[in-house]
Amino acid sequence: MDFTLTPEVEDYRKRIRVFVEEHVLPLEKDPASFDAHENIAEEPLARVRVKAKEAGLWALGMPRERGGQGLPVTAMAVCYEEMARSIFGPVCCNCAAPDDGNMILLNKVGTEAQKERWLQPIIDGEVRSAFVMTEPMPGSGSDPGGTMRTRAQKKGNKWVVTGRKWFITGADGAQHFILVARTSDDPRRGLSAFMFDADQPGWEIVRRIPIMGPEEHGGHCEVDFDGLEIAPENMLMEEGDGLRVTQIRLNTARLTHCMRWLGMAKRAIEIVEPYVKERESFGMKLIEHEVIQRALGEVAMEIATGRLIVMYAAWKLDQGDYARKEVAMAKVKLADTLHKAVDTAIQLMGARGYSKDELLEWMYRYARMARLVDGASEVHMMVFSRFLMREGMDFWAWDT
Ligand SMILES: Cc1cc2nc3c(=O)[nH]c(=O)nc-3n(C[C@H](O)[C@H](O)[C@H](O)COP(=O)(O)OP(=O)(O)OC[C@H]3O[C@@H](n4cnc5c(N)ncnc54)[C@H](O)[C@@H]3O)c2cc1C
Repeated sequence: MDFTLTPEVEDYRKRIRVFVEEHVLPLEKDPASFDAHENIAEEPLARVRVKAKEAGLWALGMPRERGGQGLPVTAMAVCYEEMARSIFGPVCCNCAAPDDGNMILLNKVGTEAQKERWLQPIIDGEVRSAFVMTEPMPGSGSDPGGTMRTRAQKKGNKWVVTGRKWFITGADGAQHFILVARTSDDPRRGLSAFMFDADQPGWEIVRRIPIMGPEEHGGHCEVDFDGLEIAPENMLMEEGDGLRVTQIRLNTARLTHCMRWLGMAKRAIEIVEPYVKERESFGMKLIEHEVIQRALGEVAMEIATGRLIVMYAAWKLDQGDYARKEVAMAKVKLADTLHKAVDTAIQLMGARGYSKDELLEWMYRYARMARLVDGASEVHMMVFSRFLMREGMDFWAWDT
């Protein structure tokens, strides 16, 4: 086990640090940089994106020949953590959800023709994308295989889609969509995945659902399908592979969330650090109180142990492993770590931490979705405890 970063990865990390420091962090301080949904506004985003491309800090996990940096998942972990020092960092480098997860999926399983049509424009930053799976009750939530209601039926040479989805991140304004729908009642192979384009008829955004936290660009939408026609060449993988597509997409995408949450958790501590060093109470600086040292020490330990599980899962993915249990553990752990880090920072900053003068309250509202999005924590715990029951003591076997 060697955790030393290669010179190439360290070079990326350092360049990202400087880039975020120079071009992204200043935007956070200016209210004019925010859109109506508390994300970076389109105009400054477009400007910084040009710079990120020029700096070679664009689409880090995508192949070089397609305009990315071709980094393995372990290197992405280092870089995503660094760029998420700013709440705007990942989207400025085209490394933010949902495009990031969609690109990783299309790059892994798309045919060359599909990559050219659906993936390349996302890498280039010309279009945005969305992943369309979750449904209103009684449809698909935590258990898509068992409960999905949206159907794609074969009519002649086309698939025709009817049904309803919700909480589709980025749908408002996305051009390329990856849709998971039921194509049969087979319990294991009943779902299939498709691509469609925003310009096609037969679907509409019913509403943009208001949420507690800041929104990704394009919001979180409820979407209705009433006769959307999809050509057979726009099926992703084979008929019946919908659950596999979902697993492949979500596994790496979940881990990239964890990488970014590490960066945000560290930033929360960075924000509170000067405050506890300067603020005095009862004759000493806040940081001189043992209870404050303990609170900060606990968060520091959580972040450090969280990073270990993220790196381990990333390493497994780089070995070609699905890393299902490692990613599930990382997702549960880092969702809690992010929440704890931000919560602690707010507490130690007192009233100022709770105010909108600091980014902490933004992060706190954002952090609450971490335990839900891409699978609720309870479901991930169910997954890795199933592994435990199946593997017994081998659950902790060394990789040899
Ligand atoms: C901000 C945000 C963005 C999202 N973006 C997208 C997107 O782009 N595309 C998309 O398709 N979906 C998206 N989702 C949906 C998200 O993936 C789902 O919220 C998640 O999969 C959980 O499904 P659900 O909300 O339907 O919860 P449900 O399945 O209704 O479960 C509700 C609760 O029940 C509990 N629970 C469920 N199953 C179990 C179990 N087996 N054991 C114990 N407890 C259990 C959990 O506490 C869970 O939170 C997004 C959600 C949010 C909040």
